[in-house]
Amino acid sequence: MRGKALYSLTAGLLLVAGCSRRSEHSPTAAVVLISVDTLRADHLPAYGYRAVSTPAIDALARDSIVFENAYCQSPLTLPSHATLLTGLLPPAHGVSDNVGFRLAASHATIATALKEHGYATGAAVSSFALRRDRGLAAGFDLYDDDFGPGSHDERAGPETVKRLESFVESHRDRPLFLFLHLYEPHTPYAPPEPFRRAYAANPYDGEIAAADAAIGGFITFLKERGLYDRALIVFLSDHGEGLGDHGEEEHGVFLYRETIRVPLFVKPPGSSGKARRVHAPVGLIDVAPTVAAAVGFPVGKELPGLSLAGGFVEGKNSRPRRIYSETLYPRLQLGWSDLASLTDDRFSYIEAPRPELYDLVTDPGQKRDLAPERPPALRSMRAELFGLRKLAAPPEKASSEELEKLGSLGYIRIDPVSAARGDLPDPKDRIEELRKYKQLFDVFYARRDAEAIALSRAMLAESPQILSVWRILATSLERQGRAAEAAAALESALARPDLTGSSEDLEQASGELAALASRTKDMAAAEKTLSGLVARGVGSEPVRRELARLLHRQGRVAEALAVLAGAEKSRDATTLDVYGALLAESGRHAEARTALQRALSLDPGRAEVLLHLGMLSLREKDAASAREWFTKSLAAQPSAPGTLAALGLAQAELGDTRSALESWDRALVLDPTQYDTLFNRAVLAGKTGNAGEARRGLERFIASAPAGRYAAQIAEARRLLRAFPAGRS
Ligand SMILES: [Zn+2]
Repeated sequence: MRGKALYSLTAGLLLVAGCSRRSEHSPTAAVVLISVDTLRADHLPAYGYRAVSTPAIDALARDSIVFENAYCQSPLTLPSHATLLTGLLPPAHGVSDNVGFRLAASHATIATALKEHGYATGAAVSSFALRRDRGLAAGFDLYDDDFGPGSHDERAGPETVKRLESFVESHRDRPLFLFLHLYEPHTPYAPPEPFRRAYAANPYDGEIAAADAAIGGFITFLKERGLYDRALIVFLSDHGEGLGDHGEEEHGVFLYRETIRVPLFVKPPGSSGKARRVHAPVGLIDVAPTVAAAVGFPVGKELPGLSLAGGFVEGKNSRPRRIYSETLYPRLQLGWSDLASLTDDRFSYIEAPRPELYDLVTDPGQKRDLAPERPPALRSMRAELFGLRKLAAPPEKASSEELEKLGSLGYIRIDPVSAARGDLPDPKDRIEELRKYKQLFDVFYARRDAEAIALSRAMLAESPQILSVWRILATSLERQGRAAEAAAALESALARPDLTGSSEDLEQASGELAALASRTKDMAAAEKTLSGLVARGVGSEPVRRELARLLHRQGRVAEALAVLAGAEKSRDATTLDVYGALLAESGRHAEARTALQRALSLDPGRAEVLLHLGMLSLREKDAASAREWFTKSLAAQPSAPGTLAALGLAQAELGDTRSALESWDRALVLDPTQYDTLFNRAVLAGKTGNAGEARRGLERFIASAPAGRYAAQIAEARRLLRAFPAGRS
């Protein structure tokens, strides 16, 4: 499978030239990739399935070379599309999983190569998993991943098609490269009408029918614009779907054929009604060389694949081709062993803690594992696979928002482990557990909190060490308004010595606990929780920050600063903000300014930071600058009583009494418990000669301000009241 790229490109070109008129393979022919996510080959009529109707895909198959045994190189959306566009195996392009990886800009892709040769390049994708920041957008003039306002993470095929069609309309004068990605067959299976009703018993097939309708619209469009005949069209899926065949409902864990065999058609330019079927095993790695052969220039440098444009040289290789696949998802997200496989025209070998070998000729459903009998194929495939595998680079940090979006698309994350740890469980021994997790994630993302609480408690009774389940329990409790129980759950989780999860998960969980603790009214309990975490070494930055805030609220500035020692190096705007405010209060003005300016550069326009910069200016007796900062802060967050109160102070300092009184009135409407403001307002009203207002304000202050905290001001207010006798207004 690692044939010399140059040789195969040339061979592909000759074969293409041999099968129809040369002029039709000019580099100006359109190149169209259509990827239907999660489409099992054996659920298409083109591969013998009878329970779904896909007229558009069938018609395309009749104009195409249909590959009977095409395999993806990873059963995961992002890694698989990275292979599709680069022609590289996953260990070479480095995108090991949907989370924590992106394609490096140094890799050439079909899009970058075609753009360099003058093509107009347009892509429209339908899932958050392929959003532009994952690196696949390189080389595309249009990379449309706009899923609409709100938190949408996928979109319907017809909408995606529309975006690509308008790109075509505005680039008719140039050769085109088009990449259409549809997401219908991916979970959740919820086909639109009329497919919902027609496929009520099998909504997965209903989604395939819906995708077919979108493709039908797109192909009709290409035909109407005169692009179809001259185009190279490659139709494929990035992976299949388990549908329970080996215990896996979706995809990503296993490398059995239901998830790695994919539909693959190649319609060469100029061909119609020339259907051919090819049985030799091929892979998505072959798509980039196929495009290269059709357009007449190389796409990548050393590509492991072969051109399929001429129908692939069946029987010309000296030995059967073996197609590589891998999945790191079980290792990176579930805490189980990763898997790799090789598939040839006879056998499928799966490398696992207990390796498996299947004879696909006599046992295409992979029910009888031949590995224990140690046939010769086992040893040779195992040896070849060994040379292809490479340890993945560690994933980068994923945000909780990203994980939530992917989670709502069915991407389950239970127990991430580092890429290097050995001796992990065999996924086939644990797949039943995954069903339970799947059920839990489904109710959790559907916000069925009561069910999620019951289910997670039941699961924790059996496996109390799984952090992600504790986090689901805590979040569900919190959503139900049970913050104290949520905090208790996270606290008992973080106290476990056997707790699983990556350091970043632990950090996020301790941050969640810190946020919960800081919201409770019981400051003593919150302080105990947070200082306990710091003492046990799980005191991540958010924990220390919340503890500092808690101490700050109690006026314990020096202690708070000690907890945040070293925070000037933080890259988190919130931490720098809290730290800067504390420094300002302890008189370290220059350091405070540095911290707050850094916070502002990380998060420009953040209201709290602007407020704290204004407070610092006030302390430095620069009321004009203070007024500017407060005004900016209010532009970002208009209904902030504390900021209005501070603005009033700056205005009063600058002699703008009228504005100061107005600011304080607005502050007191928003928050009548701003006692300092109430007092200040009364005093200022008195100074401007408005004795009635001053008197009313002071009386209200004396009646409402907490006597303990405001003892001094209350005494002062009584003294002032005597200066404003009743009736002298
Ligand atoms: Zn996918």
